Amino acid sequence: MGSPQREILCKVLVVGDLGVGKTSIIQRYVHNVFSQCYRATIGVDFALKIVNWDLDTVVRLQLWDIAGQERFGHMTRLYYREAVGAVVVCDLGRVATVESVSRWKEDLDSKVCLQNGNPIPVILLGNKCDQVPLGTSVSNLEQLGQELGFSYSHVTSAKENVNIDMAISSLIKEIIAND
Ligand code: GDP
Ligand code: MG
Repeated sequence: MGSPQREILCKVLVVGDLGVGKTSIIQRYVHNVFSQCYRATIGVDFALKIVNWDLDTVVRLQLWDIAGQERFGHMTRLYYREAVGAVVVCDLGRVATVESVSRWKEDLDSKVCLQNGNPIPVILLGNKCDQVPLGTSVSNLEQLGQELGFSYSHVTSAKENVNIDMAISSLIKEIIAND
């Protein structure tokens, strides 16, 4: 008999401005699908993915989607409660959504932290990389991510399935390191 597997329940928040691709990223990661139009549901929605991380570890990943509440630019403390990681998404083709990244990061840092008081790991995703020339986008995003204290930054495309798995894995790795 092997040793029992540990099961880690992770609540992960996905935030960012309206239309940047949050729902698309979640759908791609959890169901491996992409659609041009997701209904903008009002309220909070979440998707669950069971990840067999390694031989000893199963991760039950809950991805929380702030469907329809982006226009406020922040979320309630209740929504953030007990989150152990987060994803801030921007659209590489829309500069205003990149400028909002610092606001979303501040909102997270001011409303949620780990039980030991440390900030939760947060990754930055520059989405829709299929629509922009990549060179400068990558280096600008990395610089922004470092300045603002993100654990990692990745350019992604939910549409073309670029870097989605890799990005979420980098976050899970940080979460497990804190467990
Ligand atoms: P949300 O408001 O942040 O949840 O954004 P959605 O996931 O609803 O996406 C908004 C629009 O952008 C939809 O029409 C998506 O099909 C489109 N979209 C999302 N991700 C990508 C992507 O990686 N590339 C392209 N070209 N379009 C995308
Ligand atoms: Mg959405």
